[in-house]
Amino acid sequence: MNVVENHTRSPRRPHVKVRKVRKEQKELSQLQEEQIHRSVDEILHAGQALAAAAKAAASVTQAELTNTELAVWQGDLKTRFATVQEDSQQNLGFIEEHIFLSSCEPLRLQAQRAAQLKANTTSCVCSKCKTQLVSVKYIARKIDSRFGQLVVFRHYGQCPDCQEWQCPADDALGLAKNAVASPYVQEVSALLVSKMPSEQAVLVAQRLGLDLSRCTLHREAHRQGVKAQEVRSATVTQLDTWEDIKELAHSSTEGPQSQPFTLVIEIDAWNIRERDGWGQTKELRAKDKTFSQWHWVYVGTVFRLDHRSQTAGNRAIISQRRYVATRLGIPALMRQLHREAIDCGLGQTKDVLVIGDGAVWIWNIAKDRFCDARQRLDLYHADEHLWSVANQLYGKGTPEAAQWVKPLLEQIRNDQTPATIQTLQELESGLTQALQKKLQTQINYFQSHLNRMCYKEIIDARKAVKSGDPTPQQKLKANEPLGSGAIESTCRQYQCRFKRTGQFWSLAGDEALMCLETFWRNGRWEELYPHVKLSSPSLN
Ligand SMILES: [Zn+2]
Repeated sequence: MNVVENHTRSPRRPHVKVRKVRKEQKELSQLQEEQIHRSVDEILHAGQALAAAAKAAASVTQAELTNTELAVWQGDLKTRFATVQEDSQQNLGFIEEHIFLSSCEPLRLQAQRAAQLKANTTSCVCSKCKTQLVSVKYIARKIDSRFGQLVVFRHYGQCPDCQEWQCPADDALGLAKNAVASPYVQEVSALLVSKMPSEQAVLVAQRLGLDLSRCTLHREAHRQGVKAQEVRSATVTQLDTWEDIKELAHSSTEGPQSQPFTLVIEIDAWNIRERDGWGQTKELRAKDKTFSQWHWVYVGTVFRLDHRSQTAGNRAIISQRRYVATRLGIPALMRQLHREAIDCGLGQTKDVLVIGDGAVWIWNIAKDRFCDARQRLDLYHADEHLWSVANQLYGKGTPEAAQWVKPLLEQIRNDQTPATIQTLQELESGLTQALQKKLQTQINYFQSHLNRMCYKEIIDARKAVKSGDPTPQQKLKANEPLGSGAIESTCRQYQCRFKRTGQFWSLAGDEALMCLETFWRNGRWEELYPHVKLSSPSLN
């Protein structure tokens, strides 16, 4: 067989395997050559397209659609409306959806042209020294907008004096460096992520017609939070000198003098879980068991008493109020709260009331910033302390405990706390040492807050209002809060976003989002997003 085979094969023809490899090599090199040609073509083509786009951008003179574009849009709508009429299943929801879908591209086109026009008419000068920029290039930038992605060309150049490279049109359009979000997308990212976790925010945004990734939303919201903190710092810095404070208080008193009013300030704190070991490896974190820790968020609220009223169901509602929430410590809370209090009329009133629980730091703030204020211990915290004694003496939830505590709760409401203290002191001798120690803690609590425990006047005023025979003075007094319920409900509202099961924060992350949330609650959103003024004259 071998002999025959050798004889029949041509001696000059290479082996079949060699032929196969050569063939493959030839095909490969042909393919590579084609690819090189194609990519060169593509680059050339892309270059030409970019040059054409730049030329078109530079010549944009109007944002409006052309008659042809308008006709195409109208035609598309007509077809869609015909579908709605034919299909009995398509309700108004479908009509809304059709109009939205049909309008996306025309609106995007107009937004892109209007932005282009604004960019083209922005002077190419340095933002600091107004010198004409040099080495100017015309560069495209992609922007995520309310109407989808826009491409806008802008001049980019260097200031010969400051040496800085700048893009004046970006400032004019309100675009941040290295961020794709338009001002509207910046705002929506901030709003959504401060209200809900980013994975939910992505889906909500999508339903509202915004195609944004979780990463974009999260990163943009954080950036906005940092911006909000800068704005907040700038307003709080106005409190650095006594002259500034006086001027600020004076400027907020301008305008017609109002009736005398009481300013109420409530202060509290809650805790948030942070992961301290961000960036650490799993092993390091496993070794350090304390990597996740609880930290205090300090909160406060300020309102005028005449903005507080009762619903028919006896629930308090406050029509206008300011909030403060910060993870940056007590001094930060103090400054921010002072600033909000001035805005609420601290300089216009002589009657300020601070309400809080037993925490020492609260009363230190009151002493430091609101030294002439009346102070009130939250009545319900005082009740809790008495209940705690009752439960220790007679067992939790027993009728004996309830029977023992009842007259003492009544005493507190009648401003007879010294009698309550005496009752507690008389108890001490018959108790074990451990119980004596616990009881002493409670006695100390009531003694230290004695001057903050005046409730009778309010309770009597409320009774008079109920019986329909209050004096004008009682009418006002009845509206005063006995406790710090307003701030406690505020804490719960913040916690809905910031204290979810399994949630960990970083200090930078939670402070940024909490700052955004507070701007929103305080009706100061348009300070961050001036375009909001167009459609919401008042957010409150
Ligand atoms: Zn310059």
